Amino acid sequence: MHETAVAQSLVDLIAQEAQSRHARPIRAKMSCGELNAINDEVLSFAFEAIAQGTPCEGMTLEIEHKALQAKCRTCGSIFAVDLTDVKCASCGGGDFELLPDAPLLLEQIEFEGTDDGES
Ligand SMILES: [Zn+2]
Repeated sequence: MHETAVAQSLVDLIAQEAQSRHARPIRAKMSCGELNAINDEVLSFAFEAIAQGTPCEGMTLEIEHKALQAKCRTCGSIFAVDLTDVKCASCGGGDFELLPDAPLLLEQIEFEGTDDGES
């Protein structure tokens, strides 16, 4: 299953980073494009299962789906595509090219005891 492979590589990446920092990961954020058929629940479940017994056990995974983007040929602006009503957000034109879907990306890992955030 797609999600299992993704979860496995996320756990590998985060565990590696945790080892090099000697810190326990508590939260990670990943993003993927709208067209990437990732099911959040399936991925979270797979992630939890694979994380058992690794430094990633018990951490939280956030998944952000990025909207598909397009570039307007009329005014050059880049806008998020609303699939129900596709037109340029700036000039309302319908002449645009779709940009490649956002890749699967591990954006951020938060470790225990690091001073990310203001607490
Ligand atoms: Zn435009």
